[in-house]
Amino acid sequence: MRHYDLIVAGTGFASTFFLYKYLQKAPANAKVLVLERGHLYPHADRLRDLRGEKSGLSKLNPNHGETFVNKNPDKHWPFTVGFGGSSNCWYGCTPRFLPSDFRMKSKYGVAEDWPIQYDELEPYYSEAEHLMNISGPEDTPFPRNSKYPLPPHSFSTVDKVLHKAYGNQWISQPTARASRAVGKRNPCCVSASCSVCPVSAKFTIENSEMIVYTDPRVEMSYGSLVTYLELEQTQAKKIYFTKDGKDTAFSADVFALGTNAIFNASILLNSGDAHPLTGKGLGEQFGFDAVVHLKDMENVGGSTWVTANGYMLYDGDHRKNFAACLMESNNAPYVRLESGKWRHLATFRMIFEDLPQEENQVARGEDRNKPEVSFNKPSDYTLRGVRNLKEKLPSLLSVLPVEDIRYLEPYKTEAHILGTTRMHADSRKGVLDKNLLHHIYRNLFVLGSGSFTTFTPNNPTLTLSALSLHAADKSF
Ligand SMILES: Cc1cc2nc3c(=O)[nH]c(=O)nc-3n(C[C@H](O)[C@H](O)[C@H](O)COP(=O)(O)OP(=O)(O)OC[C@H]3O[C@@H](n4cnc5c(N)ncnc54)[C@H](O)[C@@H]3O)c2cc1C
Ligand code: SF4
Repeated sequence: MRHYDLIVAGTGFASTFFLYKYLQKAPANAKVLVLERGHLYPHADRLRDLRGEKSGLSKLNPNHGETFVNKNPDKHWPFTVGFGGSSNCWYGCTPRFLPSDFRMKSKYGVAEDWPIQYDELEPYYSEAEHLMNISGPEDTPFPRNSKYPLPPHSFSTVDKVLHKAYGNQWISQPTARASRAVGKRNPCCVSASCSVCPVSAKFTIENSEMIVYTDPRVEMSYGSLVTYLELEQTQAKKIYFTKDGKDTAFSADVFALGTNAIFNASILLNSGDAHPLTGKGLGEQFGFDAVVHLKDMENVGGSTWVTANGYMLYDGDHRKNFAACLMESNNAPYVRLESGKWRHLATFRMIFEDLPQEENQVARGEDRNKPEVSFNKPSDYTLRGVRNLKEKLPSLLSVLPVEDIRYLEPYKTEAHILGTTRMHADSRKGVLDKNLLHHIYRNLFVLGSGSFTTFTPNNPTLTLSALSLHAADKSF
């Protein structure tokens, strides 16, 4: 049987940032195997397919909907299978968390504290931002010890008014959609079709220039579906995967699962993981749009799609009772169907934090490679936050010439998958420790946003990438 120093499953953000740091520290003769379920479906071919030119590669990887059983079709869990994972389809919004997000219990008496705090993660946030070449402003509601590598995107007309009124509570969104050409990436041209960016402006694993998968110490195995691990007392011993219809097992000193919060949990459940919380507490944020009609005000400009983030209803003592809300403004090309008023319009996405609830979960399915995913509804804590927003928004927007505000139906997803292998300092309250090591199996890292202890209103990927850098840095 082949033996490796490290075997990693998946090639998305979680695995790539972990490997990046591991390889900086590992000896020249280290032996690493990467098992990736899918294949490289290059960006150029994704674009070709969108233009209807048929690259022949569109069926190379399974559609996400074929890979799990969704017990609640009203709730969606989107992701991309294949090399680079959902970096291929993400939109590149990369706000940091606030320090209080990591201390919900001690500060607000809600849910639990994370075992890692903002200050410890800060250098890794900074490193992840540099690796992704994030564009962002000088002044932010969260503390930073370094400048963003790229200048901020410019505001829309409405953002300028809100920034003047609210200062660093209304900021140019920190984003992996480049404001300047950098490396293999072009500047964002505001086409608002980020799921396959036509000009390769957003960061992806494919365009990242992080020398990870071509490192001579790393052996790649595509088309390798990890099914389970052999677990013995305090150690993972072997990893089992299916390739070309054949089942194979390899052993390693250390294992790292980076297959996202659904499949990390599923692989652990298939392995007989003894932790009672594995798979439990699946969740994400809750969001909807507020469409605001403006009187005689043209809302134009902004050099990227999501132009700004608003924090006016985010942090404070209200979080003892109801959820924080992060606002996004965007300049997607919607118009009012009224002559002379086409652009007298602003659209804001309102995104609310949620709390882990154990009945929302990933469980073993009849087919062990197709886990069952159940989600009931957002918590009352979140829904109280929604009511508060609706009460406060007219007054917050009174700095604009508002005609009326309409709320659209909630989105079926914010496209984030969180919480199925929560971190906690106490091994009875969480599956992982602060270094993303399994509390029971001490050579098994479980990477990604499944590790999140609570579900802040922020997009998760910058934070999960920083956690991967931190885990590899502290553990080797
Ligand atoms: C449309 C969309 C827009 C988004 N926009 C944003 C955004 O703006 N900002 C943000 O922060 N986040 C965004 N996200 C979320 C973001 O994409 C995810 O948080 C991030 O990709 C998770 O990274 P990951 O590496 O943990 O998992 P994934 O990206 O899901 O990668 C998992 C990897 O594991 C592989 N794999 C899966 N199962 C197996 C198996 N059994 N064996 C071997 N390999 C396996 C997959 O092929 C893939 O390579 C968006 C997501 C979507 C779908
Ligand atoms: S807004 Fe357009 S250019 Fe910018 S990342 Fe999205 S798709 Fe690419």
